[in-house]
Amino acid sequence: MKIIEIKVDRVDECIWGNFDRQFKLRFINPINAINPDLTFKDWFWDLAVSIVQIRTDDGHTGIGWCEDGTGAVEAMINNHLHRFVMGQDPFDYEGIWELMFRASTVYGRKGAAIEAISAIDIALWDLMGKATGKSVAALLGGSSTESIPAYASGLHHVEPELAAEEATDYVNKGYTAMKARLGYGPLEGRKGMLKNVEHIAAIRKAIGSEVGLMIDAYGGWNLPYASEMCQLLEPYNLSWVEEPFLPDDLKSYARLRETTTIPVAGGEHEFTRYGFQQMIEAKAVDILQPDLHRCGGITEGRKIASLAAVHGLSICPHAFSNVHTQFIAATTNAPMSESFPVPCWEDSDLNEQPTIILNQASPEGGKIPVSTAPGLGVEINTEILNKSLL
Ligand SMILES: [Mg+2]
Repeated sequence: MKIIEIKVDRVDECIWGNFDRQFKLRFINPINAINPDLTFKDWFWDLAVSIVQIRTDDGHTGIGWCEDGTGAVEAMINNHLHRFVMGQDPFDYEGIWELMFRASTVYGRKGAAIEAISAIDIALWDLMGKATGKSVAALLGGSSTESIPAYASGLHHVEPELAAEEATDYVNKGYTAMKARLGYGPLEGRKGMLKNVEHIAAIRKAIGSEVGLMIDAYGGWNLPYASEMCQLLEPYNLSWVEEPFLPDDLKSYARLRETTTIPVAGGEHEFTRYGFQQMIEAKAVDILQPDLHRCGGITEGRKIASLAAVHGLSICPHAFSNVHTQFIAATTNAPMSESFPVPCWEDSDLNEQPTIILNQASPEGGKIPVSTAPGLGVEINTEILNKSLL
């Protein structure tokens, strides 16, 4: 089997459908921790998706995608990376990955170049599944996993009553764990700290003691702030504090772990086995959170999971997609997936808008069904794709 075409399209649509909620609500993030006038919208280059399609001479087409720095991703694939894919057999995915990584070191190693490699690698796995008639989960060694647990990720910093209502709704829908965003960081001082505590207290009171609760600081804190914040939040029995710092600030991660009993998580903005190895060596986190659409795809994700396993660490991939569902189904140290249910207080009509990737499995009763269709079990929404190419 030979690859005869690789095509990358930049689609100017958010992969999550309506993303306005993220922009309207309070949400600490890396840039407004420095300048409060900048918003979460400024943090994004754009909300586009890079769709990679790889076609073989026996008529199969594999689909892969990534969503950050898409203008650069398109250029890197079209001007360089395609060379290492064209004419290859997709079952040689290890060699293809290694060639792309080595060839891009001068402009890559982390960031958009690895996202481009991720999208290509994901398309190769989809192709291998389609060529063999097996799901990616089955190819990875998880053919009999029917569903995986999901946690509800939402709980923005809205009024305490509304947050409590949203949290209760997740429990009623069958979720046994959930994650809250926090609205405040160092610039808002002690007053903001107490508001963060008020938010978490309202949620914990609503869900009782048996439901897991995590928090996400989205890289927006510093070590003194995080140490004090975690001390104030310890009574609420949190399962993890996520991304308290920027991904490179590994010493702060390690020092925070020494000062708090709350487990520390991170890794959604880290890349390749080498980046995760540095996190592990620095004793930076208790839970690794690779995003396979960023960190190097499924091929690299398996290596990161093995590295984590030999250090007794679990991995909880960032965000949600069929790629992660299939991967988690076959990875014994990956206990659950993130999911993004629509908050019960939001006008649901806003979320009816179709997305570019179709047939992604969604949670039911706190679990995500694992597709048994060949490959990843997804399709491209051609209507959106064609519209974006006009
Ligand atoms: Mg996060």
